[in-house]
Amino acid sequence: MTASPETETNTAIVKLEDVHLSFGQTQVLKGIDLTIYKGDAFSIIGPSGSGKSTILRCINALVTPQSGKITVAGTRVDQLTKESERIQLRKRVGIVFQQYNLFPHLTVLDNIVLAPTKILGADKTATVKLARELLEKVRLSEKADAYPGQLSGGQQQRVAIARALAMKPELVLFDEVTSALDPETVGEVLWVIRDLIRDGMTSILVTHEMRFAEEISDTVVFTENGRIVDHGSPQQIFHTADNPRIRQFVGGLS
Ligand code: ADP
Ligand code: MG
Repeated sequence: MTASPETETNTAIVKLEDVHLSFGQTQVLKGIDLTIYKGDAFSIIGPSGSGKSTILRCINALVTPQSGKITVAGTRVDQLTKESERIQLRKRVGIVFQQYNLFPHLTVLDNIVLAPTKILGADKTATVKLARELLEKVRLSEKADAYPGQLSGGQQQRVAIARALAMKPELVLFDEVTSALDPETVGEVLWVIRDLIRDGMTSILVTHEMRFAEEISDTVVFTENGRIVDHGSPQQIFHTADNPRIRQFVGGLS
């Protein structure tokens, strides 16, 4: 059965409509429109400074645009006025950054258990069980009692992903999560993200890993200078884009 437009609207989990954002005099987002559906693997690529991180930060209510609409899982994020409302939203939207920022004085297991128990008030025993399941998922079961300083960058980033998942988010944002890693540990983090996407997690991925984006994405957008200049399937963006800037960008990195 063909989905009616109404059904599509219902399953859109993230929608940005004509979003404009400036920091002081600097216009950073100049009219961003995008729609992400439940279960999508959505990638954002583009040059440094083009606004990719700012788009993710808008979705997670870390910054508020001057104009435009942002709807995330039924919530009008641009209209949230209280910090408590933004915190509510962030419980439902996981974000993983380039810098994993684990608590160095807590074990891997405790790093994962902390937020669900403290912020969501989740049951400790159930959360420990969940944390162990997530460690298995990110292939780090044997590191539960280790401290972050004893792990490689790639292992720490996998813990950070498990920590985000422990909040049972409705979608996860990944902001260049492999950019700070030694090349030999990039692959193990990408495997974990690939598994999550295969499990159906709605994901928005900002990445410079072009081959990975090509492999796992349903939709790719290319940003430049605060605008989305093209969007389409991986095939369209990576192989048949007309825009010479995209061809150059994609060609130069893959
Ligand atoms: P990208 O993630 O694509 O590299 P960003 O979204 O981080 O780009 O940044 C887009 C532009 O906004 C850049 O020119 C950056 O310097 C500027 N910018 C980002 N955050 C701030 C901020 N908090 N204050 C001022 N300018 C910012
Ligand atoms: Mg960025």
